[in-house]
Amino acid sequence: MSEKAWLKNVRKVTPYVPGEQPQDLKKIKLNTNENPYPPSKGVMEALKEFDTSVLKLYPTTDAKELRKTLADYHKVEEKNLFIGVGSDDVLATCFMTFFCGEKPTLFADITYSFYEVWAKFAGINYKLVPLKENFRQDEEAYYEENGGIVIANPNAPTSIAESKELIERIVKANPESVVIIDEAYVDFGGESVIGLTEKYDNLLVVRTFSKSRSLAGLRIGYAVGNEDLINAMFAVRDSINSYTINTIAVKAAVASVLDEEYFQSTLKKIVATRERAALELEKLGFDVLPSSANFLYVTHKTRSAVDLQLKLRNEHIFVRYFKKPERISNYLRISVGTDEEMDRLIEVLSKEIQ
Ligand code: PMP
Repeated sequence: MSEKAWLKNVRKVTPYVPGEQPQDLKKIKLNTNENPYPPSKGVMEALKEFDTSVLKLYPTTDAKELRKTLADYHKVEEKNLFIGVGSDDVLATCFMTFFCGEKPTLFADITYSFYEVWAKFAGINYKLVPLKENFRQDEEAYYEENGGIVIANPNAPTSIAESKELIERIVKANPESVVIIDEAYVDFGGESVIGLTEKYDNLLVVRTFSKSRSLAGLRIGYAVGNEDLINAMFAVRDSINSYTINTIAVKAAVASVLDEEYFQSTLKKIVATRERAALELEKLGFDVLPSSANFLYVTHKTRSAVDLQLKLRNEHIFVRYFKKPERISNYLRISVGTDEEMDRLIEVLSKEIQ
């Protein structure tokens, strides 16, 4: 028998490649759209007061306490919520649940690159919808026959948000398809369509605690939608692993939702820093796309993005570069850090560009 004969039975996949995660907190990490501020103090207190004796028990399968807290927060019912291990888990479950028909599932050619990975993994027929020249969604393209739609709004990596009206028109025009709106960045300036989930039974909105709630390490995401959509997701999830959300994460996530004041103050700071950094970058000759997210998508008139990324890296500043497709190959995605971090970024770039 040849060596490693079992290899022929191994699934061949092309996985998503996440941004680098240097654990050295001295580095300026502007490459994965994390929040530069710590989670709310309430989260710290909830963890300190956590009764470890409950860890001998399995958690609830639906993260009950968090489901209830989020239902109150969004003015929906518990049955309208699905909780997952980050929104990646929620979105992966969506891809496994809703796109089993023959018609193609539509998503933009420039969007969160994990969508294509999940589609390929699940053997889903999909079609990329080219964004328009100005990187906006091509609304008309979503009126073509399809087996499902996924739109990140605001979009990543472009940072551009589409209006609630545009999203509603697409949802309304596609009653036979599930339309997933990935609102990972909506708190930084987009318009949420959670309020429309009661009106449209084919609309599912996906959210995360990783960006606006400073809890990327906790791994909590959720979906809001019609009860039947949510139940279908639980059935698929329960065919893989029922106890996904751990008891500690539930406690911390609940504490975060209850601290609205801290949440709003952090958002305000990030938006102010974003606007200031965008102006500074424009002064240095960058074109900056209009951002409704916690990151900026920029291209320089004369300098190569790859080259600038390397120069920044040498100064311990990490930003994200995506090579494909061709028309974004000279763009950099820069997460909004603290004012000090952005000042340092601008300082290094100005030296480099002059
Ligand atoms: N959606 C979009 C558009 C994202 O950029 C990300 C972050 N990489 C996610 C979902 C997933 O984030 P998380 O799993 O941390 O919730």
